[in-house]
Amino acid sequence: LIALLTVAIAAVVIIALFLGHRMMRGLADVGSVSVCWQLIGRGRYGTVFRGCLHERCVAVKLFSSANRQNYVNERSIYSLPLLQQHDNIAHFLSADERKTADGRPEFLIVMDFYPHGCLSRYLSVHTVDWSTCCRMNHGVTRGLAFLHTELNRGDQYKPAVAHRDVTSRNILVRADLSCVLADFGLSMRLTGSRPCCPVDNDTMAISEVGTVRYMAPEVLGGALNLRDCEAALKQVDVYALGLLYWETFRRCSELFPGEAVPEYQLAFQAELGNHPSFEEMQILVAREKFRPRFPEAWKENSLVLRSLKETMEDCWDQDAEARLTAQCAEERLCELALLSTHTAIQNHSTQSQVYTLQYTT
Ligand code: ADP
Ligand code: MG
Ligand code: MG
Repeated sequence: LIALLTVAIAAVVIIALFLGHRMMRGLADVGSVSVCWQLIGRGRYGTVFRGCLHERCVAVKLFSSANRQNYVNERSIYSLPLLQQHDNIAHFLSADERKTADGRPEFLIVMDFYPHGCLSRYLSVHTVDWSTCCRMNHGVTRGLAFLHTELNRGDQYKPAVAHRDVTSRNILVRADLSCVLADFGLSMRLTGSRPCCPVDNDTMAISEVGTVRYMAPEVLGGALNLRDCEAALKQVDVYALGLLYWETFRRCSELFPGEAVPEYQLAFQAELGNHPSFEEMQILVAREKFRPRFPEAWKENSLVLRSLKETMEDCWDQDAEARLTAQCAEERLCELALLSTHTAIQNHSTQSQVYTLQYTT
């Protein structure tokens, strides 16, 4: 047993040293980034390591040559004017290409390091109070609303952009628990010189991307309205935003007074487990129009719970055109944050007087 353990430890050390050496050598190109071999995340397209740039902690996302397109796309989105000035968009530092030891190209993106990692990881180990929960969701929504907006400021032009992969793994959490939108590998410009304008061959590429779990019913059902691509792709993002709200508010301690907060779950995890297939999602979400269930504790119709459930339902509406815009969702989150859960959840008698919020879509 001891011999086996020794071999295992030696193997881990050798692999670590190898990875560390490989990263250090290649990263000389990116100024003075030094990268420890500590893996901090792995997605479908990239592997993310922690590094140091001018004594500042950074994250380095490494793409293999097979994922070049994803890298080129992510880099081009991060380079759009005005994007980096927004507080709820992940902070990009630089990008580079290099060769691996065996001569194949690989690509890297250097960005700020977010110590809590992605939102889904944070929520799986922490519960959050009401104001933090509102602030997290408001930040994400504000980031998405900004991304969706076409802007002209002086001589700078920022096209409207669809994210196309909104999930709790693509939101990063700062030390102060504010959140940023990240992972723009699948994002698409919707306006400007290269707006999306699908021809037959592109239709699949335009409609069927993203993470299956978060795919909107019209994407799953192959009924995305490509005649108004700009609106359709924004609506797809907002659908996923609704699922994200559900995942986050289910971990809000104040929404479960006097009982244990339920364990963290991804949307549809209870129904379809950890690896739902496209077909399973298609049946559940597109055909049966199923949406995540609200917990028992949310049955009560207090002002807060009513507004919260309504906001989620207005984001994940089966009818894409009936969904909120990201801008409206942002307003709703602002209003929610102003409501105190204590009075609103526990004091029914005041609800009819307080319920004067008028929502616009
Ligand atoms: P992919 O495009 O392959 O999905 P992501 O950009 O989503 O790659 O990164 C994968 C994971 O790595 C994220 O879900 C997150 O957990 C982690 N991660 C990515 N960027 C950072 C960062 N800047 N700071 C901390 N963790 C990060
Ligand atoms: Mg990702
Ligand atoms: Mg990605």
